[in-house]
Amino acid sequence: MKKAKILVLAGDGIGPEVMKVSIQVLEQAIRGSGLRLEFEEDLAGGCSIDKHGIPLTEETLKKAKKVDAVLLGAVGGLAWDKLPHEKRPERALLSLRAGLKLFANLRPAKIIPALLSASTLKEEVVEGIDLLVVRELTGGIYFGKPRGVKEIKGGLEKKGFNTEVYSTSEIERIARVAFEAARARRKKVMSVDKANILESSILWREVVTGLGREYPDVQLDHMYVDNCAMQLVRNPKQFDVIVTTNMFGDILSDEAAMLTGSIGMLPSASLGEKKNRFGFPSGMYEPVHGSAPDIAGKGVANPLATILSMSMMVRHSLGKDEVARSMENAVEAALAKDYRTVDIFEEGKKRVGTEEMAEIVSREL
Ligand code: NAD
Repeated sequence: MKKAKILVLAGDGIGPEVMKVSIQVLEQAIRGSGLRLEFEEDLAGGCSIDKHGIPLTEETLKKAKKVDAVLLGAVGGLAWDKLPHEKRPERALLSLRAGLKLFANLRPAKIIPALLSASTLKEEVVEGIDLLVVRELTGGIYFGKPRGVKEIKGGLEKKGFNTEVYSTSEIERIARVAFEAARARRKKVMSVDKANILESSILWREVVTGLGREYPDVQLDHMYVDNCAMQLVRNPKQFDVIVTTNMFGDILSDEAAMLTGSIGMLPSASLGEKKNRFGFPSGMYEPVHGSAPDIAGKGVANPLATILSMSMMVRHSLGKDEVARSMENAVEAALAKDYRTVDIFEEGKKRVGTEEMAEIVSREL
């Protein structure tokens, strides 16, 4: 098998700390799997501003377009907080999303038995949660036109407006990601919309239903977004794959994430339409957390979200499900042995730092 090319954008704050040790875990995980990786490092975020004056250079974006997958640590920090919005480190994320045409955001929420008590919900409600939110990322109301704020009534008042808009092809490609993901899971898709109010949602429902006929092995159901928000805290175990629009997904994926506890545990994947050299979707993989300036440089950050993001990369962009699973099992095993970083620490558990946690996960592989 040819070597997969991975662009590593470690970024700022704890980004480089968690990235370094997680790559060691990844290298250990792929041993004997036939998968070979070649890493190239570059700058994104504040570190790129310091060196080049902008959060993401054209050359870095070009590299990101050529590789089989991109790994991102985190960007941002106090040093760049005073910059105007369009020059801030976080713009790097938007440029990468737009440049790579990353239209599907995948956020799994899985409860790890050893961390049951970290959830704010009752254990019997969260025990066994294993769901995936598939959010449309490049369309809908966040990008729809017309948008703006304009004066009305001769300047006496103002009106702010945005447009929720989806085309058939946009709906179909995101729904396809959800159906394919469900096939590798428990074969259930819940499509979430507001078809009782919004015309764009009526089309959404129609298109998802039509595509569902191509996936007779996958059970398709529909739910209104308000009900879904409620069901996620009432009975989250009913969900396998949730597919929804950009705005609904923005809200529901954060809600789903918090069912499982700490931010230091949450991975994410953003997939593009383009296929990589292996025939899988190219994508960008990153932990959900930010650069955590409050703990950066202290060696205490939790690397597990980054390790789990890498397992998503191995699954979705490199097609090695068994390696991905072994990484996820190793993370669970480390936690089952009571090792905890500061963010998930509880009395009676063994407190470890970033490097030690990664070493323990490696040993469990
Ligand atoms: P944050 O996620 O960086 O931190 C929130 C809290 O969670 C902090 O107390 C932090 O110490 C803790 N935390 C986060 N990740 C952790 C980990 N792996 N291990 C242990 N504890 C962890 O969010 P914030 O403080 O709102 O933002 C800090 C900076 O990060 C800002 O500049 C923000 O814009 C940026 N940010 C970047 C991304 C990204 O790169 N994708 C996402 C969110 C925020």
